[in-house]
Amino acid sequence: MKNILAVYNGSFDFLDKIKISPLSRAYTFSDSVYEVIPFYNSKIIAFDEHIARLEKSCEALSFSIKILDISNEILELITKSKVQHGYIYYQVTRGIDNLRSHMFDKDISIETFGYAVEHIFKSQSLKVMLCEDLRWQRCDIKSTSLLGNIMSMNDAKNLGCDEVIMHKNKIITEGGASNIFFATDECVYTPHLSKNILPGITRELLIKDIKKAGIKVEEGIFSIDDLIEAKSIWLTSSTKGLAQVVEIKNQETNIQIDHELFVKCDKIFKDNYLT
Ligand code: PMP
Repeated sequence: MKNILAVYNGSFDFLDKIKISPLSRAYTFSDSVYEVIPFYNSKIIAFDEHIARLEKSCEALSFSIKILDISNEILELITKSKVQHGYIYYQVTRGIDNLRSHMFDKDISIETFGYAVEHIFKSQSLKVMLCEDLRWQRCDIKSTSLLGNIMSMNDAKNLGCDEVIMHKNKIITEGGASNIFFATDECVYTPHLSKNILPGITRELLIKDIKKAGIKVEEGIFSIDDLIEAKSIWLTSSTKGLAQVVEIKNQETNIQIDHELFVKCDKIFKDNYLT
C-alpha cells in the first residue's frame, strides 16, 4: 500500500495517510458507487464511457455531483501518480451521517475518494464456478454493495476457481467481476443489457470493435445449457481485458483452448487498447 497516490474530498495524499469517518455511509450502508478506469502507456481506455457510467450510477441514487470536477480530479490523479500502466479506483459516497440512519439528511455532502495503482495487463486463463446469482435487482448500478458477488467469488476461491459465472434460474447473467461472452464457430454471444447485469465498458468496446471487423455478435437471453455447446467462453473487464475460461468446475463443456474466434477477438481488443 506504500506510495499509492490517492485523493479524498479533493485533497491529494498517499493512500495509507487518508482517514475516513466510520459514519461515512460507504462504511455503514455501502451507500456509494464506483468506477475502475484503466490506462495503458498513460493513455486512458474509454475515459468518456467510464465517466458517463459514473454519472449514471450517481443519478440512479440521486447523488448530486459535479462531473467535470470529478473528471479533472481523475486526470490529475493519473498525471500526478506517474503510473504508466494501471487503473484508477474512484468512489462517490452519499456522505457522512451525524448518526447512522437509513433515511439520509437532504443537506448531506457527497464524499469522494480515489487512487491510482499500477496494474499488469496480462492474458489470463480462468477456472470458473457456475452459481446461482444471489444479487439484488439493480445490478446495472455500479454500486459498492457487492455482497452477493463476494460470497459467490469466495466460495469459488475455496474450490480453487478464479471467477464465477452467475445465472438466475439457469439464465446466464455475468461474472462476479466481469461480463461473459461465448462463441460457436460462427458467432459470438453475450447476455443483452438489463437491470441484471453491469453495462461493462470492455463489453461495449468489444462488441463495437468486433462487429466492425465483420464478426457476428448476438446479444440475447442465454441459458447455462448454451455453455455446453460453446467452443469458447471468456470474461471481460477493465482490468482483465478478455480472459479465456479454460474450465467450468461444475459443468461439462466442449471448450477448445485458444479457439479461433476467441483469439481473433482478443487480438482486436489488444491491438486497439493495449499497445
Ligand atoms: N460486471 C461486474 C459485476 C463487474 O464488477 C465488472 C467489473 N467492474 C464488469 C461486469 C465489467 O465491467 P468493465 O468492463 O466496465 O470493467
